[in-house]
Amino acid sequence: MLTALMDHRHFTTILHTKEELLALKKGSKSFTCPHCSSPLILKIGNIKIPHFAHTSKLSCLIAAKKETPAHIWSKALLYDRLSEVFRDVKLEYYIKELQQIPDLLITVQGKRVAIEIQCSTIPLSEIKERTEGYRRENIHPLWILTQPLPSGIPLKLTSFQQGFIRFSEEFHFFLLHFDPSKKSFTLFPHLTPVSTNSFYFSKEIKIPLEKFTIPLTILPPDPAESRILKNWNHYRGKWMNNKIRFSSARRDPFLSEVYGEGDIFLYLPLYIGLPVLPQMTLIKSNSIQWQYFIWNDVIKKSPFFTKEMIYAAFMRRLGKGSIETRNFPINPTGSSIKILIDDYMSLLEKLDIIQKRKGRGYILTAKWTCPKTFNEFQQHSRDFFPKLKHILKKD
Ligand SMILES: [Zn+2]
Repeated sequence: MLTALMDHRHFTTILHTKEELLALKKGSKSFTCPHCSSPLILKIGNIKIPHFAHTSKLSCLIAAKKETPAHIWSKALLYDRLSEVFRDVKLEYYIKELQQIPDLLITVQGKRVAIEIQCSTIPLSEIKERTEGYRRENIHPLWILTQPLPSGIPLKLTSFQQGFIRFSEEFHFFLLHFDPSKKSFTLFPHLTPVSTNSFYFSKEIKIPLEKFTIPLTILPPDPAESRILKNWNHYRGKWMNNKIRFSSARRDPFLSEVYGEGDIFLYLPLYIGLPVLPQMTLIKSNSIQWQYFIWNDVIKKSPFFTKEMIYAAFMRRLGKGSIETRNFPINPTGSSIKILIDDYMSLLEKLDIIQKRKGRGYILTAKWTCPKTFNEFQQHSRDFFPKLKHILKKD
């Protein structure tokens, strides 16, 4: 921690030089924890920035946070920067109503913003709980991930790191990351999954610390439709091949359902497994899975169907666990599944797979007969891909 009580007043290490701190340490000054009143030691080393530590592991909220050097360093950097921009910046401030201590609490245009820097992996349920607490107190929570991320495209994220993904109109699903060693933020906009843990994004945006402000004032790049599209079929095929190679048709519930329905897994129609941007980022199951369920539960079997039927089928599958969603604890979801279904159906409509009838219903226009040979399936791809390319480009 960076703050302590000295002579009944708040004392912050980062507002003093190392020499001043060394002099204080040599003197007979004592420091106590503002939260639990137990004595603190002032630590001045060469690696970590000067900070306070509890002398014993008592039950104290702030001691329980187990701050890493990167966490303390990030907190000090953000405090410095935000103090330049905002008048009201509180460090390690105790919010009584919530019994929580955000790293920073600032007032932005009359609204309180709690900044939580997260370096170590903690349960996502804890993040969700703290987020909901802040919202209840009308405080906007801003979570910043500082765990190192691997470089390269697609971006590989653990399920913990995926918990920091948020949604906005401009950036769609995005991740904000801070690297204290480079004093720089990176924003990955338009995140679209190509597998459980890999994501495409449009173009990363670097924000140097000295430009960082709240809210962010940066322009979003073009969405990444084209890059995803170019590689989409590759990832679709890769997922299918892995499924066949690593799971047995008898033991894998998805494969056994496909075969049980008389469908040939490798020859499923190509409109099963379409990229449905942006809301499909919410779904952890592969797009082949959830779109197959929609097709199998409704489209293939009903001569006439409605959006409501498809939505209900999707929700049933979700309830049974055959479709899994991603856990985005800081992102309120709301009507996202409805939007996803709407977007998928309008894509199917544009591809002439389904057609709107008078009223609110649809019919399947392109009757599907399972290809018997690889050549027949190749013919289907030759017909399908130019159409898809054309349609996604127009959007
Ligand atoms: Zn304490």
